[in-house]
Amino acid sequence: MDECSCDPQLVEALETSGGSLLMNYQRLETLPGNIFCKIHSKLVRRIFGKCNLIKTISGVLVYVNIVEIYLPSNRMTRLPESICDLQSLESLNLTDNSVEELPSSIGKLNKLNQLILRNNCLKRIPPEIGNLANLCMLDLAHNGLHQVPAQIKGCKSLKHLYLSNNKLATLQRQVCDLETLEDVCVGSNNLLHLPPDLGTNRNLVSVNVSENNFLTAIPWSLKGKHLKYHSSYLTQLTPIAATSTSMQPCYVNSNNDKVYLPNYLNINPGIPALMDLSARAINLSTYKDSLLFDRLPKNVYDIIIDPTGHCNCCKNKLFWSVFVKSVGHADFVSLDGGVTTSLHYLVFCCSSLCLDSFK
Ligand SMILES: [Zn+2]
Ligand SMILES: [Zn+2]
Repeated sequence: MDECSCDPQLVEALETSGGSLLMNYQRLETLPGNIFCKIHSKLVRRIFGKCNLIKTISGVLVYVNIVEIYLPSNRMTRLPESICDLQSLESLNLTDNSVEELPSSIGKLNKLNQLILRNNCLKRIPPEIGNLANLCMLDLAHNGLHQVPAQIKGCKSLKHLYLSNNKLATLQRQVCDLETLEDVCVGSNNLLHLPPDLGTNRNLVSVNVSENNFLTAIPWSLKGKHLKYHSSYLTQLTPIAATSTSMQPCYVNSNNDKVYLPNYLNINPGIPALMDLSARAINLSTYKDSLLFDRLPKNVYDIIIDPTGHCNCCKNKLFWSVFVKSVGHADFVSLDGGVTTSLHYLVFCCSSLCLDSFK
């Protein structure tokens, strides 16, 4: 070890800082990757390099034991596939860069606990994100995301999900499977509706859906949660716009009040469609582990595994046929106090019987 040619001052600085490389505000264009020998490189645990001009993270890859990479306000546009070599990495913060895409190999960072890419240029998230079973904080606010992959349900430790200021039109129902989720922020998107089960996440405390100006209803399951909603202007989805966004108007009370729901749903059908009755029967059957279950058409399989929601009365799974009514509304005042928006509280049930007996 004492035979190495490392700069002794750098080695001392590394050792006294407990393995941190401090490089904030230095106008660096590249990350120094070759300043230590192989042995001393292994001592690097953290890199702090806020406000530089760094375009690539590849200089970090020699630090195989690194735990934290903190590089906000740099000039990164992409991450290499080989980032998965950093198997000790727990925290990656690249806020205020220009990252356009995440490599699928990000799903191999088994220890990753925090992934923070606020204010970048992401248009999609790779489905492999769902392999991050230890991820606790996912902050992708201020990007260009159109959706969250269904695989997000694999993030079994996720507590904080920040997706505000994106282009989301729907919030995937698989988010409702995240039992550890405590707060979700989806403000300033284009959300047209919320998944019926959103409030059933056991640990969920707070939901921010502000500035989704086309929302007409919130699921009853969110009643009692800390719900933030303000809307700076009132917008009505026109019938034509609704059709182009795969939504359908439906009347939810005797006052002919209208809300919009996804048009794959069969709303208040009288009796559930045959397809629905089949899915219910399969769901209850004992063939679940057999080949039969695996050979179901994909859309049937998917909806049985991840149902539209659960009946607010009897808790049975809901598939395509849902019985819906409004049980009053919640009024939200805009930040300047000038506009009040009313959103219906919607109850979702599996039958007219359940709907009628819902109190
Ligand atoms: Zn050395
Ligand atoms: Zn029911």
